[in-house]
Amino acid sequence: MAFEYRSTIGQDSHRFVDRLNRPATAEELARPLLLGGFEIPSAVGLSGNSDADVILHALTNAVSGLTGINILGKISDQMCLEEGITDSRAYLKRALQDMGDWQITHVSVTIEGKRPHLSAWIDPMRKSIAQIIGIEPRDVGITATTGEGLTDFGRGDGLQVFCILTARRPDNE
Ligand SMILES: [Zn+2]
Repeated sequence: MAFEYRSTIGQDSHRFVDRLNRPATAEELARPLLLGGFEIPSAVGLSGNSDADVILHALTNAVSGLTGINILGKISDQMCLEEGITDSRAYLKRALQDMGDWQITHVSVTIEGKRPHLSAWIDPMRKSIAQIIGIEPRDVGITATTGEGLTDFGRGDGLQVFCILTARRPDNE
C-alpha cells in the first residue's frame, strides 16, 4: 500500500515560576514540572494558566500543523478558563480528534534549557508521550541541550521545545 507522508513542526516555551517579573505566589512555587505528561521529581515548575506542559504544547502545535486546526489559543483557553481543564493531555487529545486518516509514525522533540538535568528522565518522558498518542516509545525521540547560556532558556529562565511530527495516510490515488 502506498502512503502519503507529512512532517510538521510545533514550538512552545514557558517561564519558570521562580523567574517571573514579580514574586511568585506560594501556589505557583508548589507547581510540579510536567514534561510530556511525566512529572519531573523535585523541579521548579513552569508558569501558565494550564499545567504548562511545554512538550505537550509543542506537540499539540505540531498536530495542528498537520490538521490545519489550531487548538492552543482560542480552543485551549476556552477549555482552560471556562471548563477548568488544565491538563495539557486534554488539549493534545482534542487536537488528535481532527487527524482523520492521518496516523502518527514518529515524534522528535528537542528541549532547550539550563535546568533541570533531564538525562535521567528521557526514557520516562518517551514512554509517557508514546502512551498519550498511541505509538511505541521507540518512535519518540527526545534530546535536551543546555544552549550554553546563549538564550534566556540557556540561562535558566524557562524551557523551549521544538517538536517535529511525521504522519502518514493511505494514498488512494
Ligand atoms: Zn504552552
